[in-house]
Amino acid sequence: MVSRIVVAGGGIAGLSAALLLARRGYSVDLVERDGPPPKDLSDIQEWQRPGAPQVRHPHMFLGLFRHLLQTRLPDVHADLLAHGVDEVDMTAPPGVEAPGDATELASFGSRRATVEWVLHRAVRKQAGLRLRHGLSVREVVTDQGRVRGVRVDGAVLDADAVVDATGRRSPLVGAFTKEAEESPCGNVYHSRFYHLLDGVPKPPTFLVPVVFAGGAGFGGGLYAHDNRTFAVVFARLPEDEALGRLRETGAFEAAANAVAQFGPWLRPGSAEPIGDVVPMAGLTNTWRELSPDTPDGYLPLGDVLCTTDPILGRGASFALAGAAELSDLMDRHQADLGAVSAGLRAYAERELRPWYEDGVHDDVERTRSWRATVDGRPEPPAGLPLAVLAALAGQQDHRLWELAQLRANLMASPDSLDTPEVRERLDTVLATGWEPPVLSPGPSYPELRDALTAHSG
Ligand SMILES: Cc1cc2nc3c(=O)[nH]c(=O)nc-3n(C[C@H](O)[C@H](O)[C@H](O)COP(=O)(O)OP(=O)(O)OC[C@H]3O[C@@H](n4cnc5c(N)ncnc54)[C@H](O)[C@@H]3O)c2cc1C
Repeated sequence: MVSRIVVAGGGIAGLSAALLLARRGYSVDLVERDGPPPKDLSDIQEWQRPGAPQVRHPHMFLGLFRHLLQTRLPDVHADLLAHGVDEVDMTAPPGVEAPGDATELASFGSRRATVEWVLHRAVRKQAGLRLRHGLSVREVVTDQGRVRGVRVDGAVLDADAVVDATGRRSPLVGAFTKEAEESPCGNVYHSRFYHLLDGVPKPPTFLVPVVFAGGAGFGGGLYAHDNRTFAVVFARLPEDEALGRLRETGAFEAAANAVAQFGPWLRPGSAEPIGDVVPMAGLTNTWRELSPDTPDGYLPLGDVLCTTDPILGRGASFALAGAAELSDLMDRHQADLGAVSAGLRAYAERELRPWYEDGVHDDVERTRSWRATVDGRPEPPAGLPLAVLAALAGQQDHRLWELAQLRANLMASPDSLDTPEVRERLDTVLATGWEPPVLSPGPSYPELRDALTAHSG
């Protein structure tokens, strides 16, 4: 019989798994190395999260995340909306009325810390769930091929199963990994959060990313978040030291001011920074294959199993989807932890692996194109990827719109647009003489580099 479960790590995967399992009647200990969130949401920016440094970077929560939250943790979904998170309706293009049978679809942008703060409110109220902060899980304790508990700082916590939700640098998974695939994302992030001043209209929250800037050579965006906050982010090649100056506050501001589309929210009197410029490097796509003799009851979730490029904004959805799958498997197989582990592996192979491969492919292509620009030999503009073309042509054909958005929001598989129906619909739209609108390109690579250089004087 399985009664006691330890969840190691209180990020998106850990908080949601702990809630879902406690609601199934399990006795759950959630162990998180960082301290608790502040009592008031208004103090959220002060929360120290060294265990999950991506909390300081913008987050888009795609349709899959929103759908799972609404269906699996509806109280958390309602609480998020009550605490300043605005959803973006994706059922139809802006200004177009969706047909009556359109699939409901919404996403949202929010500071990641706000989402965790709301999840913590539910965790604190949840019977059967104990949250222990400031403790690190060091090791999974096993005996005769079964999990018996975990070693935390100086003590052992007994458990029948351990959910490893300690993120991409899991200290636990190495002991059970047969093989790890790793492929660099090919970018370094530089982000800063801001708060809009009174009377300044919010940035548009439609489409992802909200405002896009940058040609080949770098990327950038301005993301509307909760409670009149927003984030500006630039992504550059790891070896690009010219853009590496984005780590300096003044240089970052000079670069952000060089993006005309950001003007309405960054010009003097519009917004105030709420924190410094924060970098994040060492980003990889990672896939872990567990060894066959992994003990029954070791259950990895989220970034532990599969880490994807943040540029694609998919990781939080996979973390919540894994937690929901685990909860269903525990319900289906009850005490048979071998079957739960096998089910989790099958789910990862079926649902996550194709997205992992899709992301690696995109990153290789983008890195090649960015390098060509940075080296001064820009490639001729390539045709738009099918997913982008279908989304743009969706302004003319609702079904195309729906299919493109379902894929973009992880609610259909990566290859779901590669069908005769989509090609026929695209041909029909193109035959009318319609052409894809020119995407707002933002500054060129040399323009951005010059803005940084000019700042240094
Ligand atoms: C720069 C950046 C931007 C991103 N933007 C997006 C986005 O826009 N949309 C999106 O969906 N995804 C985004 N992601 C990905 C997303 O943040 C991750 O996929 C997601 O956080 C994974 O959740 P998780 O719970 O598995 O891991 P994490 O969120 O990393 O949580 C792991 C938790 O475990 C704790 N922990 C670690 N070790 C221990 C230990 N030994 N004992 C106890 N606790 C421990 C940590 O403190 C942390 O709280 C981004 C990632 C990065 C790096």
